[in-house]
Amino acid sequence: VIGYRDARAQVDHVVLTVGEVDRNPEVPLRVHSECLTGEALASQRCDCGDQLKDAMAYIAARGLGVIVYLRGHEGRGIGLVNKLRAYAAQDRGADTVSANLALGLPVDAREYGAVGPILQDLGVSSVQLITNNPDKQRALERQGVPVRSRRPSLGSPTPENAAYLRTKRDVLGHWL
Ligand SMILES: [Zn+2]
Repeated sequence: VIGYRDARAQVDHVVLTVGEVDRNPEVPLRVHSECLTGEALASQRCDCGDQLKDAMAYIAARGLGVIVYLRGHEGRGIGLVNKLRAYAAQDRGADTVSANLALGLPVDAREYGAVGPILQDLGVSSVQLITNNPDKQRALERQGVPVRSRRPSLGSPTPENAAYLRTKRDVLGHWL
């Protein structure tokens, strides 16, 4: 586990690595956005906790990989308290996108500028990206990270997060 201080975003990120990530091509990579409610509090509204566990299990089985755990990404970058406000709006019938817009907040304020320098620091030359999010893949490619292949990120569909996953697929264009 390696800590990085992000001087621009004023947050600390955490990186987990397994194996010789600087000596292998196509290193499995999960760029994971922090989600306190989904990961620490077992919220059923999203599948972040399951996606993180899936990536950790896959990387452990491969014996090779990197998880860049990005802080400052709560609620797609709107912050923890705003995410809770958006949840309240969702309880009144909004979906995950329209809830943000109703609160005057961006749909997705996350930025991934720290990932390129972190991978460079680790000596990672190319990656197999574990994601369903085309925006995330494009953001990395814009930073010059060679994405050689992609593996889906496997969460767990449940009755509680079905609407959330449907919005991800139909409104945000995720590969689900
Ligand atoms: Zn979440």
